[in-house]
Amino acid sequence: MGKGERQMSFETVQWFLERCAEYALSAVSSWDGVTAAVGEISGMFTRFTSGLAWPYALASVTIAGGAYLLSKPRAAWSAKAFSAFLFPAHVFAHPSARLDYRFYVVSLLFNVFFCFPMLAGLGAIAGKIGSAVLAGYAGWAPPVTLSVPALFAAALGFYLLHDFMNYWSHMLLHKVPLLWAFHQVHHSAEVLTPLSAYRAHPVEFFVTTIFRVPVIGSAFIFYQAIPAHELAVTTVFGVSLVAFMYGLSGFHLQHSHLPISYGPLLDRVLLSPIVHQTHHSIDPRHHDKNFGVKFALWDWVFGTLCVPDRHECLQFGLVGMKKDEFSTVGKLYAGPFQRVGRLIRRSVASGPLTRSQDAVRSEGL
Ligand SMILES: [Zn+2]
Ligand SMILES: [Zn+2]
Repeated sequence: MGKGERQMSFETVQWFLERCAEYALSAVSSWDGVTAAVGEISGMFTRFTSGLAWPYALASVTIAGGAYLLSKPRAAWSAKAFSAFLFPAHVFAHPSARLDYRFYVVSLLFNVFFCFPMLAGLGAIAGKIGSAVLAGYAGWAPPVTLSVPALFAAALGFYLLHDFMNYWSHMLLHKVPLLWAFHQVHHSAEVLTPLSAYRAHPVEFFVTTIFRVPVIGSAFIFYQAIPAHELAVTTVFGVSLVAFMYGLSGFHLQHSHLPISYGPLLDRVLLSPIVHQTHHSIDPRHHDKNFGVKFALWDWVFGTLCVPDRHECLQFGLVGMKKDEFSTVGKLYAGPFQRVGRLIRRSVASGPLTRSQDAVRSEGL
């Protein structure tokens, strides 16, 4: 690489980092940004773009209700027994679950004020750059109108593409030791509750953002010339119909104590609770399986799917975990950097980071 090219790549990186900072700070740099972020928080149970919106929670409770009715004799049915089935104290009062609740509050603020604005901003930038490149070099013009079936096909296609990228970023988080040091935060949960889904380090968010931005940018390019009233046919209550349908699939139960299977076929397509719970299992047979985030389809296609018998007792957490390293919110945020430091020191002393994931897991790092 010549001096001129080095200078250009340095300026590109600098420009990219400046944009990251600009978008990350956009929610706190103006009063409108602050009020929008506060609105995101106050509406998290009623806004249908939020994973905690009431219809999705209700759908999960309904699916859990079905599992309850099927698993208990009719004589034992009661509201009190169902409540204990849904919210057992040994799970929801477990120290790991209590840490999830505290971590959720901090991560919610971090996501709403910094991460989400940055993701949206970078997606728009990627879209503008991609659009300019396509229009300028390939002479491509975005569609100005689409039939209703084509609009639905595009919405489903982008949703699947987004999850396809999620699959690969999740796999990288497991396969690359430096990234696994951060993804361990998610896997350190010893019991699973719906809020365990949000136990994820910000660095993990940045990694997945790199994979998601091209998809968001592509959607921006594709839809830019279609009038909003035409796009509205693919939305319901202000959210994409595809996303709304996914919201009703019981995704809260993926992080739960209920090993619910959706049956042999749907377990290969949707990410049923038992499929994602297996991803959290400490059994070596389940390591590096079920990387899907919304759909199990990718695991099925690429041979990483594992659906255990639903009577199998799964134990969650990390093999050889030093529990003290994952015992507070501060340690969940700072601990990965210490583990990365240890990894780098070890690699300097003994060679590149090429150990198998199982070895890295059992060392507990
Ligand atoms: Zn994982
Ligand atoms: Zn998980």
